[in-house]
Amino acid sequence: MEDFICPICRGHLRIGDDLIFSLKKKNNKKGLIILSPELGNYTYRKHEDLELEEGEELTFFCPICHANLTSDVDKNLVKVIMVDEKGDRYEILFSDIVGEESTYKVKGKDVFKTGTDAERYQKYWDVPDEYKKYI
Ligand SMILES: [Zn+2]
Repeated sequence: MEDFICPICRGHLRIGDDLIFSLKKKNNKKGLIILSPELGNYTYRKHEDLELEEGEELTFFCPICHANLTSDVDKNLVKVIMVDEKGDRYEILFSDIVGEESTYKVKGKDVFKTGTDAERYQKYWDVPDEYKKYI
């Protein structure tokens, strides 16, 4: 089972099948969101009082150290670290826009992407053809 780690405090963001983040909306409303650790699975859970609209841009924070997890690649991409069973580390970047399906798994020059909107940010990497279909 892969671990997901905050790039700032190295705290664990994954508990079982839940990936936990805190977030802030443009109107400053804050809440917790639970994502799937399965790359390409865009289902999420949240409290019913936290209303998220399609196309809305969110800011993601580490629920442990409260660091802003916005990547330096693009302000709409969130960055966390994934460590697989072999101990290999990857950067995982995903869109912070509600309903936008773009996820990238980056290790050095190797970039894997998934999601129906993944074309949108691939300009930041030189994604070779053989990796285009699936992570
Ligand atoms: Zn942290």
